[in-house]
Amino acid sequence: MERNTPNTASPAKRKFDPENFPSNTSATDHMLIAKYSGGKWSDAEIVPYHQLTLSPLAMCLHYGQTVFEGLKAYRSQTGKINIFRLDSHYHRMNKSLKRMAMPELSETMFIKGIEELVKKDEDWVIDEEGFSLYIRPFVIATEAKVGVSVSSEYLFMVVCTPMRAYYSRPLRVKVEKDFIRAAKGGTGAAKNGGNYGGALYPTLLANQEGYDQVLWTDASHKEFLEESGTMNLMFIIDDILITPPAGSTILEGVTRDSILELARERKMEVQVRPLSVKEVEEAFLQNKKVEAFGVGTAAVVAPFEKVRIGKNDYFPYIEADAVMYSLKEELQAIRLGLLPDKYGWNTCIQ
Ligand SMILES: *Cc1c(COP(=O)(O)O)cnc(C)c1O
Repeated sequence: MERNTPNTASPAKRKFDPENFPSNTSATDHMLIAKYSGGKWSDAEIVPYHQLTLSPLAMCLHYGQTVFEGLKAYRSQTGKINIFRLDSHYHRMNKSLKRMAMPELSETMFIKGIEELVKKDEDWVIDEEGFSLYIRPFVIATEAKVGVSVSSEYLFMVVCTPMRAYYSRPLRVKVEKDFIRAAKGGTGAAKNGGNYGGALYPTLLANQEGYDQVLWTDASHKEFLEESGTMNLMFIIDDILITPPAGSTILEGVTRDSILELARERKMEVQVRPLSVKEVEEAFLQNKKVEAFGVGTAAVVAPFEKVRIGKNDYFPYIEADAVMYSLKEELQAIRLGLLPDKYGWNTCIQ
């Protein structure tokens, strides 16, 4: 091998030490990569994890053509690995790519690619309660060119990072009425980088007031609740599970869909409809039992312990017998193979 050429030889395999692994900031040994140019994708390849070289003119650095996904793999009871709802994440990724005028991915690249990558780094998926391997697929525009236009070159990559069970304390959230996340016709339904960048400043202001996250409201009237961070919103008011409809301004969460399915199966009353801030505030004022929580791949179910509406704080129900915890447990049990996977949600890696 010539000097100065990138070293693509496999580095010595690291021993994964879950006690000392910096989750979130460090990746597993391998990654998946494919390049798009001349109107087509190259075959996806699994290579040792390494740094990227990009032109400072790479369009993703300037004009926001970026899309990502986030999904998880678990070590199941049988010792095999389950990837949760791989197919749904594939379809959503392509939907996001289409909205951002970026080239869609084939099933082979995404689904087979992730299966192979997880198999390759399977030592990192350990059998420990609450442990998961977080899988991050993404596509970025790489053409080096000044001027806003559709890039003609892209990189598709998948990297993985192990995640330990973390006890997350219930969140304090604030209904946001000054800033918005997404407007009808915008990019809110796509997992596009810009949506998250724009949310940081309002979230920072909320943090300074003692809240962890904001609850976004609709851009036109700021009357209806939408979502929070990278989570969809759910409320259980008097035993009825209510969640706003996903669509143009609300990202269609896979966790949301899974929880709705489990709730319907239990014969809970489920209402997918616009939910106004006023309705929630009235429920609190009438002392109704209100559970409020976010649902998403990272935390699965994140209970809210405090909800700021206008000048008042309200306190949802977070005791151990809250329904949200049992929905979360049921979902976890399906992922781990402790309950039958009657919906076909797990892709089992042999
Ligand atoms: C990813 C994400 C969610 C949750 O989706 P999951 O598929 O459940 O992880 C919800 N809202 C936004 C804005 C997101 O980016």
